[in-house]
Amino acid sequence: MKNIAVFIDIKNGQIAESSLRALEFASAWSNQQGFDGVIVYGFEKTQLEALNALNSIKEYVQIEVPGLVQNSQVLAVLLSHIQEKGISQILYVKSLLMDSVAAYLSGALAFPLISNVKELEKVSNGNRFTKSIFSGKANLVTEVAGDNFIAAFSKSFSSNLALPSGNSSPSLSSISLPLNSQSTIVENYPLTGSIPLPDAAVVVGGGRGLKDPSNWVMVEDLAKELGAATACSKPVSDLNWRPHHEHVGQTGVKIAPKLYIACGISGAIQHLAGVNGSRKIVVINNDPEAPFFKHADYGIVGDVFDVLPRLLNKLKSH
Ligand SMILES: Cc1cc2nc3c(=O)[nH]c(=O)nc-3n(C[C@H](O)[C@H](O)[C@H](O)COP(=O)(O)OP(=O)(O)OC[C@H]3O[C@@H](n4cnc5c(N)ncnc54)[C@H](O)[C@@H]3O)c2cc1C
Repeated sequence: MKNIAVFIDIKNGQIAESSLRALEFASAWSNQQGFDGVIVYGFEKTQLEALNALNSIKEYVQIEVPGLVQNSQVLAVLLSHIQEKGISQILYVKSLLMDSVAAYLSGALAFPLISNVKELEKVSNGNRFTKSIFSGKANLVTEVAGDNFIAAFSKSFSSNLALPSGNSSPSLSSISLPLNSQSTIVENYPLTGSIPLPDAAVVVGGGRGLKDPSNWVMVEDLAKELGAATACSKPVSDLNWRPHHEHVGQTGVKIAPKLYIACGISGAIQHLAGVNGSRKIVVINNDPEAPFFKHADYGIVGDVFDVLPRLLNKLKSH
């Protein structure tokens, strides 16, 4: 028995876009490398339709956690499950929770943990990983001997493997992890009412060029019209114009949307480090020399106070 495990991120029952890409890769990889199949783990209930549509998915295991996961006693139960299932490769998309789970599993299973993986391919005596380093400014290609590993995919992970045709009918099971006796959750503040930034398909970001927090209504209106999440540059959150969880960049959230619209943001290297996984970047800036234009797919040289209302009107009229 030789299986791959994929840990997926689920929000409100929906599998996150980046996890879906990891699942598609696992399905193709399992087929190509002759694995028995893919076992999917998640911390919430999910719709199985997305899994049914993929080849080689054997099982969805819902992990029930009554408290905090980060504890070796709690994770020992997950470890036994993984060992029983004959799992030799573990894949996930980087997240705070999974990074700590993976660190434990890597030590306990003696599987090397490779982080920030952008590409993965088989080589004769092991596997080759292309990793994103220096906040996305360079790639490092590393080869790991053997076929046991844990790979933490970066949000910009991509693969040319063709998706195998055919469906799956995965079975559904669950495991309950014990209560963490060392630390407890005192209070939980879920963020509601907004689209989570790390997994948003469209993001509208604003920088100091917006001049004042009251002008953010333009960014919010555009985001609402596009079904997008809102983001900002670091100085904007430092000035408390916007909440810190919206700050993207080297020291903030890393995003990889299909479309990122940057309004009044200069495009400093530290900002780019968090947004260079975006598939298409639109930059609106009144300075034609703004560095962001060099990284844009589409650039609008103009005043945000003129461009944004016109863009919004245009979208509303369609
Ligand atoms: C260690 C370190 C870590 C950092 N981490 C981050 C990070 O994670 N994320 C991050 O964002 N920054 C980070 N920074 C800060 C970064 O270097 C830049 O200072 C910051 O990104 C600039 O923010 P900004 O583009 O909003 O502001 P500015 O640099 O002030 O740029 C504002 C832009 O708006 C344009 N503009 C002005 N008025 C208008 C208008 N009316 N219409 C259209 N355009 C207009 C200007 O031409 C300018 O390009 C970090 C810095 C350091 C030293």
